[in-house]
Amino acid sequence: MNALVLHGGAGSASNIDELNAKVNEFADIAFKEKNALDAVIKAVVLMEDEPLFNAGTGSNMRLDGSIQMDAAVMIPGNFGGVINIENVKNPVLVAKDVMLKSPHLLLAGDGAIKFARKMGYGDYDPSTEKARKKRERILEKLNNGEIPEYYHPKFFLEFLGDTVGAVARINGEFAAAVSTGGTSLTLRGRVGDSPIPGAGIYCGEKGAVVATGIGEEIIKRMLSINIYNRIGEMPLEEICKEELEKFGDIPVGIIAVDENSSCALSNANMPYAIKKY
Ligand code: ASP
Repeated sequence: MNALVLHGGAGSASNIDELNAKVNEFADIAFKEKNALDAVIKAVVLMEDEPLFNAGTGSNMRLDGSIQMDAAVMIPGNFGGVINIENVKNPVLVAKDVMLKSPHLLLAGDGAIKFARKMGYGDYDPSTEKARKKRERILEKLNNGEIPEYYHPKFFLEFLGDTVGAVARINGEFAAAVSTGGTSLTLRGRVGDSPIPGAGIYCGEKGAVVATGIGEEIIKRMLSINIYNRIGEMPLEEICKEELEKFGDIPVGIIAVDENSSCALSNANMPYAIKKY
């Protein structure tokens, strides 16, 4: 079985139909790639370039107004990621270069930006009116005391969503990729699950898994590697269901693919596309 699964973020807002149409359109384009790595990268680049999503252009702003993005890519036996990268158009392409063209696996902050420039990625402003408005709404709520200091993860829901990810199995090879501007109710420097191998992304010889939702909760449970390690125990979708249930009402989504099957599940609105043949 060849399969490509895309998600457009757990907790997506009211424009779920529009986002579903986009991820399906992008999945059709990306599925034309000849191998799993190229397919997941293509899919994520298309979503990073679509301002409706919270990745690349259209990424969320931190509370201080800055935009820091996380992205990662994984294939069996190799990984590359960028953390809190700024002013680049396609963080996932930099993550791929970290994996393939650097001796490291993860680069963060100014080091990630310097590496990107060295690799030829120019200065780019990913900010949008949508992100500015979202931040203004959050600041208003904070100022009005509508968000308690130690808020329940559910408070994120209104400001969550639109992060992107893809998993694929093509000609027997697996790959996974993710990209995000992070949750929007966050401090500068915050790191979510997306670029943390085992948490927001995992890929090995048995399959590929990507998570979306409240990164802090996903890291605590090492969601992606937990699912991966269970592959073969029961049908993939059942494993994902069981792991998802452990989050209760904390918004989380999963996409996954193994040798024979693929799935996309979420306890909050999540646009997704599953293509297979
Ligand atoms: N998991 C991402 C993060 O916590 C956000 C998301 O999936 O919407 O950064």
